[in-house]
Amino acid sequence: MSAIVAIVGRPNVGKSTLFNRLIKRRDAIVDEISGVTRDRHYGKTDWNGREFSVIDTGGYVVGSDDIFEQEIDKQVELALDEADAIIFVVDVATGVTGMDEEVAQLLRQVDKPIFMAVNKVDSAMRVADAAEFYALGLGDYYTISSINGSGTGELLDAVVEALPEDEGAIEDELPRFAVVGRPNAGKSSFINALLGEDRYIVTDIAGTTRDSVDTKYNRFGFEFNLVDTAGIRRKAKVKEDLEFYTVMRSVRAIEHSDVCLLVLDATRGFEGQDLNIFWLAERNRKGIVILVNKWDLVEKQTNTVKEFETYIRKQIEPFTDVPIVFISSLSKQRIYKAIETAVEVYKNKTKRISTSQLNDVMLPIIAGTPPPAQKGKYVKIKFCTQLPTPTPQFAFFANLPQYVKEPYRRFIENKLRSNFDFNGVPVQVYFRKK
Ligand code: GDP
Ligand code: GDP
Repeated sequence: MSAIVAIVGRPNVGKSTLFNRLIKRRDAIVDEISGVTRDRHYGKTDWNGREFSVIDTGGYVVGSDDIFEQEIDKQVELALDEADAIIFVVDVATGVTGMDEEVAQLLRQVDKPIFMAVNKVDSAMRVADAAEFYALGLGDYYTISSINGSGTGELLDAVVEALPEDEGAIEDELPRFAVVGRPNAGKSSFINALLGEDRYIVTDIAGTTRDSVDTKYNRFGFEFNLVDTAGIRRKAKVKEDLEFYTVMRSVRAIEHSDVCLLVLDATRGFEGQDLNIFWLAERNRKGIVILVNKWDLVEKQTNTVKEFETYIRKQIEPFTDVPIVFISSLSKQRIYKAIETAVEVYKNKTKRISTSQLNDVMLPIIAGTPPPAQKGKYVKIKFCTQLPTPTPQFAFFANLPQYVKEPYRRFIENKLRSNFDFNGVPVQVYFRKK
């Protein structure tokens, strides 16, 4: 669970330019490799050794300024609710505008670290112009240029300083399951179906952050923590089907979890928002179970389940090794199966494979299908091991690791999956110099 920093501000001040600089476009590289479209407004970064998530709130608003004006209050409020620190971006070239004042007014009311960044200060000549932003009543500001990077280091030093401590992983914890999905998919219905009566609640563990509460459940013979965010529950009344709201509500729950139960509405298919949540979980290296809910509403023929599965897997390529369970929260159909599957995914995620077993299985496979030679050079993989990380990561030691290309990496990942079962779990494979 890392802290969340939200970037807010009116359009065109340079939020997405700053966002891209902060996340160093690492995500863009991932996109190229996997060839999938991902949410470009949420990313992870680190500064001075602190890892945190960054959300570009502006990325979720398309269209004209007046649409933004209608949305701005809700959007900033939500950012304030969900984020641990806020970067408020303003533009020295235009000076203070009415919309800046509106955002500033909202920001003045909250008790969270707020950093005003006066952007587009590309040269020293502009520094003095920034003084007019004192009028917004937020105190000191940072002058930055998102385009050339000047001043962003000082800004980040201050932001990181203000972030709450990371919560360290606790050994032997119960699995933490988060129920996520777009509005109306049936998340609340699923939780209600699952929990039935209050007597299944064993104990309430005080939330590790202000908003979230982990509740310990003993259900169907399994013990687990259900990760819920008070903020999600509270705002569940707001039913706007806007991507922004779904993402903001999902980020914290996902980061807090080991396994995400992604609830889909079977009658609406599997589309943009569902995919964004899916990749959010994948990028955070969480276990994933896809729950196709409202299955009672779907007219079934012999191959309906198979076809639906194929359709979903097509969209989550290349990470298709994910369990899909067809459920009805209404009739409680396969609710048990859903939890049982989540427990299995958790086991896969925390699985440790001994180095000897790993080498016994993988070295003969590699000997049979070695990496293709590059420029007349042969890559020899001599040894492999699972790294002591919270999610499955494997290092393969080779003489020329730089010559191992993506198709071979994927081949190795698939062999690991078929031999050891990592269903529902993102797996990392690295090639290192030996
Ligand atoms: P957003 O709508 O707030 O996300 O703003 P964008 O990041 O899309 O930036 C709006 C415009 O301002 C783009 O043309 C950027 O190239 C430009 N811009 C962003 N940061 C800077 C900066 O530091 N200096 C200058 N001169 N232009 C910038
Ligand atoms: P949330 O916004 O994801 O929490 O969705 P809700 O749990 O509030 O459900 C949205 C709507 O879908 C409600 O009207 C539910 O009664 C309905 N619903 C949820 N699950 C099912 C299901 O399995 N079958 C049917 N037929 N309706 C469902």
